[in-house]
Amino acid sequence: MNGEQMEKLMDGHCPDCGGSIFRPGPQGGIAQNIECVGCGSRFNVARHQGQFVTAQRIPSEADGGGVWREDMFPRVLQ
Ligand SMILES: [Zn+2]
Repeated sequence: MNGEQMEKLMDGHCPDCGGSIFRPGPQGGIAQNIECVGCGSRFNVARHQGQFVTAQRIPSEADGGGVWREDMFPRVLQ
């Protein structure tokens, strides 16, 4: 992701479609995977004390990223 896309995501918007609803995926430590409900893009974000510290794009389900079961994870970012 470039800086502009990163900024959008940290602002709570999908850099691909502009959507602001994400569903959570697997989580580890401060890192949390999120998926845009609008377009299915996935990102790995890390937050510390409520602030994003890093974010990177990860493969979407369509790109072979695997299926995230809806009932496995708590809801966040709503
Ligand atoms: Zn999107």
